[in-house]
Amino acid sequence: MYLRATGSHPHWIKELSFHHEHIPMTRSQSLFNDAVNLMPGGVNSPVRAFRAVGGDPVFFASAKGCTLTDVDGNDYIDYIGSWGPFILGHSHPRVVAALHAQLDRATSFGAPTELENLLAQKIIDLVPSIDMVRMVNSGTEATLSAIRLARAFTRREKIVKFEGCYHGHGDSFLIKAGSGVATLGLPDSPGVTPATAGDTLTARYNDLSSVEELVTEYGEQIACIILEPVVGNMGCVPPVDGFLQGIRDLCTREGILLIFDEVMTGFRLAPGGAQELFDITPDLTTLGKIIGGGLPVGAYGGRREIMEMVAPAGPMYQAGTLSGNPLAMTAGLETLRILTEDPEVYVKLDLQSAKLEDGIRANLSDLGFPYTLNRVGSMITLFFTERDVRSWDDAKTCDTGLFGSYFSEMLRRGISLPPAQFEAAFLSIMHDDDVIARTVEANRESLAVIRKNA
Ligand SMILES: *Cc1c(COP(=O)(O)O)cnc(C)c1O
Repeated sequence: MYLRATGSHPHWIKELSFHHEHIPMTRSQSLFNDAVNLMPGGVNSPVRAFRAVGGDPVFFASAKGCTLTDVDGNDYIDYIGSWGPFILGHSHPRVVAALHAQLDRATSFGAPTELENLLAQKIIDLVPSIDMVRMVNSGTEATLSAIRLARAFTRREKIVKFEGCYHGHGDSFLIKAGSGVATLGLPDSPGVTPATAGDTLTARYNDLSSVEELVTEYGEQIACIILEPVVGNMGCVPPVDGFLQGIRDLCTREGILLIFDEVMTGFRLAPGGAQELFDITPDLTTLGKIIGGGLPVGAYGGRREIMEMVAPAGPMYQAGTLSGNPLAMTAGLETLRILTEDPEVYVKLDLQSAKLEDGIRANLSDLGFPYTLNRVGSMITLFFTERDVRSWDDAKTCDTGLFGSYFSEMLRRGISLPPAQFEAAFLSIMHDDDVIARTVEANRESLAVIRKNA
């Protein structure tokens, strides 16, 4: 399965390939062999290619609740949830019905619809910091627009982000820290210019003093500080006590806008996201994932006086041909309606997630594995390191090879985990006791196999 058409194979590879011909290729493998010639790396988003864990990606055909079915007819328990959106599970009957009904009416106008009012009102009702909202088509668009808005509003140019936080693929975010803490950033991808990188400053997550240093050095130039209030993108990393409040105070004092990137945590940790859970109000919030209910939606919103800078109310330009798309609004609105109908939904999600956590912890200590497990509500990451994981420096100490083996063993047992160590797994309301028990059993078997092979 590693013998992809790359042009000319050396002679020995042809022999090897001949030797393996009696092992039939799965349909997933065959599709991936085709895909690598059609799309860069065979995928439309890098993590899907399994490069962080080894092996070939699984191609999926259908999904219902928390069960995925691949193109070869195998079933898996899903802990990716399309990277967050499926908090209700896949193909929730009410979301599907709402989409069918909308499909029969229209799929796009490029003109205003009532659906946009309804979803906007719902978001404003739920998210404490949002008085006004603008819909876009992805989380990336939301964060790009939010920092442009922060710059427009403050008339300052620099932004502060944190190492290990992910805010989509905008140039300003593809930045690695310079050599010292209080230095300007460097491009972290070819194609990002040093000029752009120089406007992004990078601090250490959960280290307020690293932010204070930047503010001391660049205070009057800083437009905004953007962060994931609970990180999902270096694996699940909660903020330590006082960290978010400390940043809030610093921003207020220095006239810096605080942006919570709640693309992952919004509607995931509480109806009002992490800002409700921790009772900290940012100036701007970015949303995505769950607000689209599985269709492509992002949004940014915040205080009215800031949002009124956005065109056509104000001078900051931002637009989108398919923004507020009727199908996407429908999926998002129905998802948020169902979520908020049950006042116990987050308690139940937390309870099921705690059962999973307890089961995995018991397995790990029985088998004597060094590990750290972080969980906030239905976001959970098992880190293969002994170190407490509070920042990217900690996360980097993980044994990613071990994670790769664990991932493959779990997949073989029908458990679909995010294919990288530095990701959060998600539960949905469909992860019932039976599903959790099967997962804990697969976890025990997988760890035992790894132990034996070590
Ligand atoms: C997923 C994610 C993004 C990017 O969203 P896309 O829809 O993939 O562009 C931005 N910020 C956070 C916190 C995310 O988890």
